[in-house]
Amino acid sequence: MSQLGDLYQELILDHSKRPRNFGPMPEANRAAEGFNRLCGDRLMLYLKMEGEVVREARFQGSGCAISTASASLLTEAVKGKTRAEAEALFQRFHQLVTGKGEAPADAPPLGKLAVFSGVSEYPARVKCASLAWHTLHSALEAKTVAEPVSTE
Ligand code: ZN
Repeated sequence: MSQLGDLYQELILDHSKRPRNFGPMPEANRAAEGFNRLCGDRLMLYLKMEGEVVREARFQGSGCAISTASASLLTEAVKGKTRAEAEALFQRFHQLVTGKGEAPADAPPLGKLAVFSGVSEYPARVKCASLAWHTLHSALEAKTVAEPVSTE
């Protein structure tokens, strides 16, 4: 494997062993649950939206190394993004791991998310890598968690 490949693998291992933004988020105003039957990956994704901007993202759950690392990197990637930017990033990521479709030209750069490029060669792992992103998509659409009452 190439040196770049090793580096990518290390990043995925690091995020799967020590996931960032892992845990509950009581102040979340959006949440969605994702389940990947194929592998058994399960996660809850929490967002704190301020208007159209994702202020905080956290997740909980259990799954394989790829799904955990993907969720961890997702929470870092979407923080501070608008809903539209997060959706565009989802499409770019989906394009990366499936090799299908086209990402919007104005989608934010993948940055560290590019570590999942190798996944497109392993169809069984595509669902693991994209689970958190599908869950993000439904969380952004979710109307089930009410906006917290503002005292301001
Ligand atoms: Zn998995």
